[in-house]
Amino acid sequence: MFQFRKTVANMIPAPMVRYFASPYVAGDSLEKGLDTADRLFRDKRILSTIDLLGEAEKTKDKVMVAVEAYEKTLDAIKDRPYASISIKPGGFGYYVDPSFCRENIERVADKAQKQGTLLTVDMEDVDITDYTLKLYSDLKPKYPVLGTVLQSRLFRTEKDIDLLDGLKAHVRLCIGIYFEPKTIAFTKKPEMKDNLLKLLRKLLERGHFVAIATHDEAYIRKALAILDEMKVPKEQREFQMLMGVPRDSMHKELIGRGENVRLYVPYALSWDDAIAYLRRRMIESPSMTMLVVKNLFKI
Ligand SMILES: Cc1cc2nc3c(=O)[nH]c(=O)nc-3n(C[C@H](O)[C@H](O)[C@H](O)COP(=O)(O)OP(=O)(O)OC[C@H]3O[C@@H](n4cnc5c(N)ncnc54)[C@H](O)[C@@H]3O)c2cc1C
Repeated sequence: MFQFRKTVANMIPAPMVRYFASPYVAGDSLEKGLDTADRLFRDKRILSTIDLLGEAEKTKDKVMVAVEAYEKTLDAIKDRPYASISIKPGGFGYYVDPSFCRENIERVADKAQKQGTLLTVDMEDVDITDYTLKLYSDLKPKYPVLGTVLQSRLFRTEKDIDLLDGLKAHVRLCIGIYFEPKTIAFTKKPEMKDNLLKLLRKLLERGHFVAIATHDEAYIRKALAILDEMKVPKEQREFQMLMGVPRDSMHKELIGRGENVRLYVPYALSWDDAIAYLRRRMIESPSMTMLVVKNLFKI
């Protein structure tokens, strides 16, 4: 099935990927990302985390383009308390040199801290998990605005939570987008999601802030039941989803219950970057691949 999705995603011509899958990307400029964040908050009280799309960068020049774009994003959202940012170590120079990556993340974290903007360090594949968690543990005391991500598909995550003790961490908890071998990870979604609920309890018991990032409505309801049962204050939790995944009534229901809802709002500096991102999303999500395939046959 994975191979089928990969083949389909790579076969579809770029202009079609762009046309059919564009709800997942705010556009090809920062302004378009900001417009989306403004509209979401103004019309629906939905918060945003703005993300510059890009592949893992292998040259210093390309990394610096991303770092500078994030600095501009921070300037632009200084007076938009409903917007935060998400970054990836891969885009900040990890594959050039891990210490160069750390310098870049610190540079942006320092700016985010001065203006009080949440900055989440996304989690990538398992080769970079140790690095990301160490970086997070080292930097969180100095930059309290920092958040990171834990993936419930990985067996190791339960123990990784122990590394966060004492940090009052800000954790986005998701199943994880990267395919990992069965020796180190759950391979079936129900197992990943049951583990997500188990990890949710552990994180909350340890006093961390948790952003529950899933579109599975059944599991959102199970998470809500846990939050009620554990009497978790509203300030210690939120729900996150990806822009473009049709969950309008769930957003409304959550906001009606007084929950914070934040959408991942990706923008790109060019449509080539955006299309690469969209192909990855299609490979990950059967529903999105099917949507694009159905639309193809309607033509
Ligand atoms: C805000 C946010 C940030 C994230 N950050 C990271 C990260 O840093 N690292 C990481 O590894 N993963 C990250 N993820 C991805 C996450 O790990 C999952 O891969 C993704 O959310 C799908 O899992 P799910 O729990 O929604 O369950 P699924 O079972 O995959 O999805 C449930 C249902 O939601 C719909 N759906 C889900 N995703 C899509 C999609 N892309 N397009 C169309 N429909 C969809 C489908 O109808 C599907 O049946 C993030 C997700 C979110 C929401």
